[in-house]
Amino acid sequence: MKREDLIHPIVSGNKWRKLNFNLAKAIEEGHSTILSFGGAYSNHIHAMAAASEAFGLKSIAIIRGEEMQPLNGTLAYAKSCGMKLHFVTREEYKMKTNEDFILKLREQFGEFYLIPEGGRNAEGVKGCTEIVKEIDIEFDCICTACGTGTTMAGLVNSLAEDRKAIGFPVLKGGDFLYRDINDLLSEVSIMKKNHWHLETNYHFGGYAKWNNELLSFMNNFEKEHNIPLDPIYTGKMMYGLFDLIHKGFFIENTTVIALHTGGLQGLIGLK
Ligand SMILES: *Cc1c(COP(=O)(O)O)cnc(C)c1O
Repeated sequence: MKREDLIHPIVSGNKWRKLNFNLAKAIEEGHSTILSFGGAYSNHIHAMAAASEAFGLKSIAIIRGEEMQPLNGTLAYAKSCGMKLHFVTREEYKMKTNEDFILKLREQFGEFYLIPEGGRNAEGVKGCTEIVKEIDIEFDCICTACGTGTTMAGLVNSLAEDRKAIGFPVLKGGDFLYRDINDLLSEVSIMKKNHWHLETNYHFGGYAKWNNELLSFMNNFEKEHNIPLDPIYTGKMMYGLFDLIHKGFFIENTTVIALHTGGLQGLIGLK
């Protein structure tokens, strides 16, 4: 397991990777404010709040759904970092990539550097491209949970052709990610990459859905290995990976790296 959850106590895992080049670019271009989008338990918003504060940037988060008081742990923490929280309806939130909607946000909040939801852009992919370089053992295959597919694109981008990457979408109907990941890849590389695929049957009903089987798998995993997982991302990937191993998917002596993408901050709230 590659422990990206240990990168930083707060800005953990792939969210740090995806912010890294975005914040550098924002600063380089002279921006003083960054704006992004997320749900109420978003690891991305939580990480962005902490990182912007550390770099002296103002931050604004467009949050899906109405404001609930008291704020949950994720949002209370973000606010304590000085992040401005702006709640929009689920309908409005769907416009998050719409140019007119973003223009309105610029009128309302002034100039800002925009990071798409989940850090899903070329800078995000570039950040995740650095993960594989840090693995200093021989391996055949690397696995990650997929939300937007940005992390997966970064892994695939840096993986030698004789190695494979497997993504485990946490959303239902994850096949749409084939196109999204190829789109992201085409933004950072002219080479067509074929040494990857998605395992789309481990979503447990969809985003932020789970059942007792997943929870008991995670609890046993933590007891045995002393590594916590979360039920939204890493738990589903690890469950899927173990299932593939039991089904004989991998040939003998295959070395598989599981990427621990972090995301443990929301756990307290979820519990
Ligand atoms: C956000 C997140 C993911 C999904 O990453 P993508 O790059 O959007 O696919 C996976 N794992 C954890 C723990 C996350 O917080």
